[in-house]
Amino acid sequence: MPIDPEDRSAAGPEDAGAPERRLTVLSGPSGVGKSTVVKELRAHHPEVWLSVSVTTRAPRPGETDGVEYFFVGADEFERMVAEGSLLEWAEFAGNRYGTPRAPVEERLRAGVPVLLEIDLQGARQVRESMPDSFHVFLAPPSWEELVRRLTGRGTEAPEVVQRRLDAARVELAAEKEFDATLVNTSVENVRDELLALVLAPKV
Ligand code: 5GP
Repeated sequence: MPIDPEDRSAAGPEDAGAPERRLTVLSGPSGVGKSTVVKELRAHHPEVWLSVSVTTRAPRPGETDGVEYFFVGADEFERMVAEGSLLEWAEFAGNRYGTPRAPVEERLRAGVPVLLEIDLQGARQVRESMPDSFHVFLAPPSWEELVRRLTGRGTEAPEVVQRRLDAARVELAAEKEFDATLVNTSVENVRDELLALVLAPKV
């Protein structure tokens, strides 16, 4: 697992008595803009630690291994599942995605606010294994807008777009399972609303 050993973001806070921060899970249909919101939040608030997932999906143009994802082969992914080193994992639109467990647990222990950006199936697994996690649903302003974003991305084959639209229908219906919903009308607004939820003390 190519986790950078020099990464200091896991270091504990100066105040040893700091409360344990909560784990925030951001989910919502593919194409709704989760990764844009998360990137924007991280650019302004690097104190929030974003988990980097492993995936068997091929990198899109402009994606870098270890930044957006750790890109792994099917065998490597299988090995991580078998070893129990993923906190959750799911198959989405023909590829597998998972959250490495150890870095998340380390940060939570150190009092660092942790954010996961994952699909619905993964969010449900985290709800089971970490019941005090806080789950945020990012909704599109409308179905038409979601279709426009998914088809306009231009990086996926039509059948992949179709699979993502099918998944989006299922994901939209699950909104009521979440603790809060944010509507992605403006990246800046959603960034600020999400930050407030991420930094709220654990209850
Ligand atoms: P994409 O291929 O567009 O980057 O991601 C497809 C979907 O997989 C998105 O809904 C994204 O949130 C989700 N995803 C990314 N990483 C993970 C992960 O580690 N676990 C799960 N369950 N879903 C993930």
